[in-house]
Amino acid sequence: MPETIPNLIAGEWVESSNTITNINPSDTTDVIGQYASASVEDVDNAVTNAHDAQKTWAGLTPQQRSEALDRVATELLERREEIARQLSREEGKTIPESTAEVTKSSHLFKYYAGEAVRVSGEHLSSIRQNIDVDIARKPVGVVGLITPWNFPISIPAWKSAPALAYGNAVILKPSELTCASAWTLTEIVEKHLPKGVFQLTMGDGSTGGALSSHPGVKAVSFTGSTQTGSKIAEAVHKRGARLQMEMGGKNPLIIMEDADLELSVKYAISGAFYSTGQRCTSCSRMVVEEQVYEAFVDKMLKGMEELRIGHALESDSNIGPLISENQLNRVLGYIDIGRQEGATLAVGGEVLDRPTPGFYISPALFVDTDPSFRINQEEIFGPVASIIKVKGIEQAISVANDVPYGLCAGIMTNSLAYTQKFRDEISSGMAMVNMPTVGTDYHVPFGGAKGSGYGPREMGTYTREFYTVTRTVYTAK
Ligand code: NAD
Repeated sequence: MPETIPNLIAGEWVESSNTITNINPSDTTDVIGQYASASVEDVDNAVTNAHDAQKTWAGLTPQQRSEALDRVATELLERREEIARQLSREEGKTIPESTAEVTKSSHLFKYYAGEAVRVSGEHLSSIRQNIDVDIARKPVGVVGLITPWNFPISIPAWKSAPALAYGNAVILKPSELTCASAWTLTEIVEKHLPKGVFQLTMGDGSTGGALSSHPGVKAVSFTGSTQTGSKIAEAVHKRGARLQMEMGGKNPLIIMEDADLELSVKYAISGAFYSTGQRCTSCSRMVVEEQVYEAFVDKMLKGMEELRIGHALESDSNIGPLISENQLNRVLGYIDIGRQEGATLAVGGEVLDRPTPGFYISPALFVDTDPSFRINQEEIFGPVASIIKVKGIEQAISVANDVPYGLCAGIMTNSLAYTQKFRDEISSGMAMVNMPTVGTDYHVPFGGAKGSGYGPREMGTYTREFYTVTRTVYTAK
């Protein structure tokens, strides 16, 4: 039996009688490790310890906090190749994708190392005579971070780097499917920060539930499905703690009749199918003007012939497997639903055999679809896209907006008028013009509207609204 890989609680590596088996989705015979699953008591110990650790951390100078975060960033970059390989092995995305993710994680720590010395308040004159008013920013305290498997190192990084920069203590509960990346991040952060400031409690939804319902956790930042989000919202709201959530998407890419079709197809294919369609910002609906519908479909089918699906660690694969058997069954279920609804499956949607056993599927494209179909309304989270034919910009935007989600939307056009209308009327947190729906920067707000997001935005300085509280001080002159 391989040894158990422990949690980090109160500065100690802690084993557990319950473990999680982490397997490689490109080769299910490859066991990555047995990871300790934190119990309710483990979570309680972590929270109790975090209170003192947070005071120590917040008591350091901004320069000391900044230097610690900078050292984390440097080590992530130095070990990029090793970490990217591990990430591909456990998540199934290709090496170039994993390498980009580790790089971004390092950049996030560098950026927030800078922010740690820029935490500023405000000074105003009172509306009354002879009084000064100061608004100071203080850490929230102990924060719980609950993260998904699809960006197993960058999402923990984009939550923990700002949380730490603003003086909070962190307890990370990563996805049970991708413990290795979270563990490696923890091992690095732990080395450079005071004991107990960053803790790791791996486990499934029950561990996440223990963290989100613990009265000592003053704020919970969650990324995952909308369904899990509503359970977490109930637990967190009940006790009056802060909540930030980033959830699912059903992102549209609008293709207008005047668009560059080659570029549109390139962005549609990479946006829908790379990372095996398992990105919250993947475009799963192509909303295409009728004049270019046939040409677009033809070019999509030709472009999709080039896609190579295989083991994530092999250099000639450009799409890896799905993360798990559950996810494979879910995607196959939606392929059936699409067919039953009357959509035409133009290509793909088949389970693929590869030299190693894994969760491989061929990217699927539905045509002749109606916006009301479940395949156009519900997040599938796999390499499945559908095409919807529309007439004019008015209908294109209306169809793009007519879903319960609003994370990211894109338009391909050369018209300034169409662009302006899209920018004004699209109901999503992020909007792309002549760009794919995937690929965002870390120094500007990230987040969704409607069922895709809740609470203050992540990234950039905007996330300060979540990780700090204000204190207003009145001083008589
Ligand atoms: P998930 O909701 O199943 O799980 C997310 C996390 O929540 C995991 O750590 C899980 O263990 C935990 N969890 C599950 N039940 C819980 C409960 N009752 N209480 C507390 N924690 C619980 O999501 P997933 O399958 O890991 O990730 C895929 C989803 O994440 C997709 O819907 C995707 O769109 C979304 N996502 C969104 C963004 C974004 O920024 N909007 C980014 C990445 C992924």
